[in-house]
Amino acid sequence: MEHKLVKFFMSPHDGFDDAGFEGHWVKDRAHCHEAWLHWNVTDRCNLNCAYCFNHDDPAKKESRLAPLDIEALMRTLDAAGKIFKIRFTGGGEPFLVPNIIEACEAITERHYVGFNTNLTCGNVKEFAGRIDPERVANINVSVHIKELERHGLVDRVIGHYALCKERGFTIVASVVAHPSLAADAERYRDFFETKGMPINFSFFVGTYNGKEYPRSYTAEEIKLFRLNSIWIRRHYEYRGVCNAGFNVGIVLPDGTVAPCFATTRETLGNVYSRIRFRKNLLVCPLKRCNCPLLQFDPYLYKKALKENSGAVKKLALLADWPLFLISYTVKRGIGGLSRRLGNIRTRTL
Ligand code: SF4
Repeated sequence: MEHKLVKFFMSPHDGFDDAGFEGHWVKDRAHCHEAWLHWNVTDRCNLNCAYCFNHDDPAKKESRLAPLDIEALMRTLDAAGKIFKIRFTGGGEPFLVPNIIEACEAITERHYVGFNTNLTCGNVKEFAGRIDPERVANINVSVHIKELERHGLVDRVIGHYALCKERGFTIVASVVAHPSLAADAERYRDFFETKGMPINFSFFVGTYNGKEYPRSYTAEEIKLFRLNSIWIRRHYEYRGVCNAGFNVGIVLPDGTVAPCFATTRETLGNVYSRIRFRKNLLVCPLKRCNCPLLQFDPYLYKKALKENSGAVKKLALLADWPLFLISYTVKRGIGGLSRRLGNIRTRTL
């Protein structure tokens, strides 16, 4: 069994399909980065979308909006000796961070940045004028239609999108395919298309009217939103071996770095002092991952698999397995364990 485990989860191609992934997620301009930090830079937000995981959370209005310590950050990146892609994202809006433009300017001298943003903030114009598009991996605009309509911000977002496009940034606009929008999906698609900002719907992860999504989409909704059923199925697959912590990490608002949102008990350091990446890959501790970093950046995942294909690295990976094997067997019994191992093979081959 051990031999099979090592063999099947180390294949560098692992059934991943670049076209599929990159067709769905934002095209990534970096592709010569060596590590990626997914930085939840603030929980503060100027919108309050009904489907947001922290909808109505007081943190949206009250959480601290401290400037980034650019000097300390740059010292940490230099000491790590890698080319980074830093994606600013969050439970809030990254462009609200007071010195975000200055931080981007410093980072992009050597590294790359990317954004998940609602693109409503006034400083987007300054960003577009000061930051080199070649150093921005991509800008993923989350178009929160109902909130934008409520605040009268639709035209502003369209204007900012056009400006970024004109300046040469890689930018896409996506809308959460919340079931409540299904009837209007076509109308919205046409509207934004005519405004020069084509939108794609990406599936909603959460609960609505007592149903769990994305598994509860009807065939009609899938058609209206033009969702990809294969992607929906993949959402529920076990991820197996992951590069979280090896060459990617998530960063919390205070700068703490962890492998991923599910493994925050393992700290890799802090962006303001030192980052120590794992020396080997990890075995996903979850049955199902809602933040598959390996899937969002297939380039780094494949790179990690290649770098871990040596015999010593394979053996090191086994160090993660005893705990997994024991805990899973206790919970599900031998039958459950063997089914799980079968799933890993299906997923990663
Ligand atoms: S929860 Fe997701 S990101 Fe974290 S280890 Fe598992 S697959 Fe990787």
